[in-house]
Amino acid sequence: MVVSMTPEVKQVLETLLIGLDIEKKHRFINTKGRLKYFDVFVRQSLKQILNYVIDDSALPDLLLRFQRYGMMDMPARMAAVDALEQFCRTLLNPPKPKKVVIPDEDLPPPQRRVGVVKGVGPRMEKLLNGVGVQTVEDLVRYAPRQYIDYKERQSLSDVMEGEYVSVIATVKRVDAHPLRNGKLFAFRMMLVDDAGGKASTQRFFSTKQRALMEAMKTRYPTGTEILISGKVKWDSFNHCPAIDGADIQTLSYEDNESAESKDLMKASSILPVYPLTQGLNLKSLRRCIQHGLDDFADQLPDVLPRDIRVGATLIPMLDALQNLHFPDTLDQADQAKRRFGFEELFLLQMRLGLMRQAYKSTVQGQTIHKLAGGLVDQYIASLPYSLTGAQARSFVEICGDLESPLPMNRLLHGDVGSGKTLVAIITLLVGIENGYQGALMAPTEILAEQHYQGLVEALSPMGIKVSLLVGKMGAKNKRATLTSLENGQIHLAVGTHALIQESVNFHRLGVVVVDEQHRFGVKQRLALRSKGADDHMPELLSMTATPIPRTMAMTLHGDLDVSVLDELPPGRSPIITRMMKNGQREEAYNQIETQIAFGRQAYIVYPLIDESESLAAKAATKEFETLRTEIFPHRKVGLMHGKLKSIEKEATMAAFASGELDILVSTTVVEVGVNVPNASIMLIESAERFGLAQLHQLRGRVGRAEHQSYCILISQLKNEDTRKRLEIMEATSDGFVIAEHDLAIRGPGDYVGLRQSGLPELQFANLVDDYELLAQARAAAFTFLEAHTVEEMKADYASLWDVLQRSGSEEMKLLSSG
Ligand code: ADP
Ligand code: MG
Repeated sequence: MVVSMTPEVKQVLETLLIGLDIEKKHRFINTKGRLKYFDVFVRQSLKQILNYVIDDSALPDLLLRFQRYGMMDMPARMAAVDALEQFCRTLLNPPKPKKVVIPDEDLPPPQRRVGVVKGVGPRMEKLLNGVGVQTVEDLVRYAPRQYIDYKERQSLSDVMEGEYVSVIATVKRVDAHPLRNGKLFAFRMMLVDDAGGKASTQRFFSTKQRALMEAMKTRYPTGTEILISGKVKWDSFNHCPAIDGADIQTLSYEDNESAESKDLMKASSILPVYPLTQGLNLKSLRRCIQHGLDDFADQLPDVLPRDIRVGATLIPMLDALQNLHFPDTLDQADQAKRRFGFEELFLLQMRLGLMRQAYKSTVQGQTIHKLAGGLVDQYIASLPYSLTGAQARSFVEICGDLESPLPMNRLLHGDVGSGKTLVAIITLLVGIENGYQGALMAPTEILAEQHYQGLVEALSPMGIKVSLLVGKMGAKNKRATLTSLENGQIHLAVGTHALIQESVNFHRLGVVVVDEQHRFGVKQRLALRSKGADDHMPELLSMTATPIPRTMAMTLHGDLDVSVLDELPPGRSPIITRMMKNGQREEAYNQIETQIAFGRQAYIVYPLIDESESLAAKAATKEFETLRTEIFPHRKVGLMHGKLKSIEKEATMAAFASGELDILVSTTVVEVGVNVPNASIMLIESAERFGLAQLHQLRGRVGRAEHQSYCILISQLKNEDTRKRLEIMEATSDGFVIAEHDLAIRGPGDYVGLRQSGLPELQFANLVDDYELLAQARAAAFTFLEAHTVEEMKADYASLWDVLQRSGSEEMKLLSSG
């Protein structure tokens, strides 16, 4: 990334960061500033600096993302804001290469700086540092992104329209010319290959991006050999295939080709392709790696204990390194990747395991026993139903944690409607019947309020005092609540973030439940935990409905115990979901009418509160009027959105819950946790705006009792992708299946939680696909930790201990809170 960091650019970047902060504080609602919406502000700012930043991906990509920002769902917005923040921060403070303090000679050779490898001069060293390769070891372990079979490679003359290809070609000519409209430049490359094939590839730049385009031109001089990947279209002007949306990598420049590197290329037909940057070409990189292996490989320790390696049928490290960079067959390359992937996952699980051990050995929790005939038993006896098998099993597991002197750190994982709240209540009651206070933290005021109402109703007959603590409370009321929390008059506090403010002191906090835990940051959960009684850690139960794919769950929650509610309460039938077009709205309204006639209630959900700039979104506020006066004049219709005052929200929610309202028109504030079992139908407008996971959460507001429930997704279905996505909702109500589709569509990079999790980036393994490998690595790590003390490890597995020590410890600390 080349930047001329003028004061103007700096100012723009700094202003952007301020804007980002505001948007984050407002929870990604595309905040309207004094003059414009957040996304417009971002786009305008980025355009101002276009001419100063020369980089062929980040900036145009960001611009594109923020063009679509208004239409993105929440996780995508968070990811976009994240990416933008990264971008600004790196420009403002370019990362400094890690300083090695110890003189190089004192380090074991593999840990010396990469410059000591033959063939790595100062220029090359800098380039390598730029892609994260600092040491000799980093170089020989630098992971190829993909492999191409050079012999089997496709010729440009064989590519078919519509196909996605990766081909090797040589640049024949590069030109750039303005388009007729005068606003854009077309940048075109003509490509040829050995087999006589020909193709073109095109990119467009705005006139403001001139500098960027010029940089592209000099970057691919005639004769440059490249690997180009993209979708094949037809270029009717040049009568040849066109490669669209191309990703281009330089393999070599014609003029710096030595005889030696040509030999290297021919030595094997399998060509590894590495993540490269400008100026770093594949052939010289491979040459350096070869030297690194020749001179240093025998000094690299194999960190995997032999038994574990053999047990998992992995190849020894030296073979793996050779196969990684110079494989004879694709199968050899796969074996190498599997071995290093396993190693990565094994080390990750070892760290998680060690953290868990350390945590449990340094802190103390309470020892709490459930009392026979106590509050829990009374409460369960008062319920009109009995616990599901999964609820009972989870509660037994929880009681086991409460009885142990170690603090509980458990995740209760269950799909929407599986009955997590009940488990939370009885867990809190075990604490209360033993004289401890409990706290229940929820992510939104609506949800906190709902829990509060439910708990007061259920628990006050048993003499339990429940209080609500949220941000927007009258000062006097708040002070009173704080006082009675501190002197122990309150048994159970329910609230939002307000619960973890410094001013909140508990008399004797024993058990904490965090609902929808993924909505909270790690730090917030930590803060609540620090409020325990007698310097003990409170027992912590986190709950989530986010159906994360199993691989990720294992890693993200590698240090938590997990209970799963894999069974819905009896008598539920799957929600019937249907897509409808705008024209079918009347039919949808009729269906709602029918449900109301049966005594049920309905939700109508809109994506946004106000009609915003380009978006033709139906605004809940506006639509509410029409629905109330014209469509359902004989029904009671209520309106709910985030901008209402707390009291208004409370009143509306209470009216809907009590059945006073027939229809609740709402934004996505009802997405999480809202529980009105009598509601049996939900209509979601502009359904294409939502991500799958979000739709699943929303839909989970109905089907919460024995009534057959319905979900109608209204959408224009303009494109095939939208239709496919919504069809998944029609086809399944299984949160895990939906999560996996969501992940496949979105890609793991954007996965919320993963990004914020502080997990190290993996080079070889992939948290989405490598489930088997992860399970193996995890089992191996846990068995190993059980069989060996830390002392033994230091003595007998020094190289393993050494890597565990050297990396990852800082970020792992945060993770340990769950
Ligand atoms: P979630 O897991 O989504 O938080 P809730 O705890 O809100 O789900 O429960 C969903 C609904 O199921 C509630 O109306 C609750 O009363 C009901 N429910 C919970 N447990 C049972 C059970 N064992 N039998 C019948 N209904 C139950
Ligand atoms: Mg819930």
